[in-house]
Amino acid sequence: MMQIEKYKTEIEYCTLERCAFCREGCPSWEQMRFETYFARGRMYLIQGILNGDLKLNKEIADVIYSCTTCGYCKDMCEAGVPTTDIYEAFRKDLVKNGFAPLERHKKLVEYMKHDHMRNPYGEEKTKKYEWTTEFSNIKDKGELVFFGGCTMPLRSPSTLKNMIKILHAAGKEIAITKDEWCCGSIGLRIGDIKFAEEQAKHNIELFKDMGAKTVMTACAGCYRTLKKDYPEILGEKLPFEVKHITELLVEILKINKLPFTEEKEKTKVTYHDPCHLGRHMNLFEVPREVISKIPGIDLIEMKRNRKNAFCCGAGGGVKSQFPDLAINNAKDRIREAIETGAEILLSSCPFCIGNLNDALNEMASKIQDKIKVIDILDLIALKIQEK
Ligand code: SF4
Ligand code: SF4
Repeated sequence: MMQIEKYKTEIEYCTLERCAFCREGCPSWEQMRFETYFARGRMYLIQGILNGDLKLNKEIADVIYSCTTCGYCKDMCEAGVPTTDIYEAFRKDLVKNGFAPLERHKKLVEYMKHDHMRNPYGEEKTKKYEWTTEFSNIKDKGELVFFGGCTMPLRSPSTLKNMIKILHAAGKEIAITKDEWCCGSIGLRIGDIKFAEEQAKHNIELFKDMGAKTVMTACAGCYRTLKKDYPEILGEKLPFEVKHITELLVEILKINKLPFTEEKEKTKVTYHDPCHLGRHMNLFEVPREVISKIPGIDLIEMKRNRKNAFCCGAGGGVKSQFPDLAINNAKDRIREAIETGAEILLSSCPFCIGNLNDALNEMASKIQDKIKVIDILDLIALKIQEK
């Protein structure tokens, strides 16, 4: 039996309704402008498979994997079609039937399974912890465990160094293990879940041995995977709480724990909601509360924000398999950020920030001069005095 069969009725809601409320704002539709590149067309396609009118093939797999699984269509759908759950189910079917993982995804999965790597970037395992060497106050065990994930330590270690600077200023200590495996987000999003269970078990055992009461992460993708997917995959409650760094920051800022420098002038910023934090986990206001508590900051919203936020274009395996699609969406998002008059585009996900910066680097220098893309952590670190 195919996984998509259990969604037969819901798929029918869409093909009967045919409203297309989910079209404008769908990242793959915005770039491709073709019916099968947004939810309604994809539902027709899947219905065709279920009815036996279509057969699974490589072209259908490409269409399904060009979706960033951003969740915009699911949130917009008044008929209640659980689009992203249907995509995830269909991706499992594609993997099971040998039409996926797609070529580039296959490589990522290989890297994640490799004992010397355990990350999708194909880097040596030890490289993930190089950023920690300059800090003597990181413990091996403790109640507050930090899960670094792969993207931030390998692609933006300076943000992690800024995080330690902030936590140090707030008098917080964290523990880190040097044997983390990738959280498994990529495997889960592309439908190759066999290995994800092993990854979840490995990481959970580590956290337990470390004495974790709270596991914290600064990556939106890791946050969703640890907090939502792990209990679902394993069918049990986690023996610790999972927090995103912004949830800890808001607690720290509420009791004025940070030595901010005095600001005479206001800096205009805007905030990009990572899909894995916002639509997937409903964490819309916490990052905004953090930003609003930084002195001298004026937060101006983009026209599409919170539940309506436009995806950066990188998620769901799109960045690796369809890099142009990811970059072109990110360019649109940057233009939208510039329209607000902000000098800084903030986010709270290394994957969004990486994709937005890749796009910005390809844009004209006069656009690059207008805006910077950084993590909330980088902004706070800029505004506090060293102790
Ligand atoms: S909003 Fe829902 S019913 Fe309408 S086209 Fe999109 S998925 Fe189908
Ligand atoms: S999840 Fe996002 S990218 Fe995928 S069809 Fe829905 S709106 Fe488009």
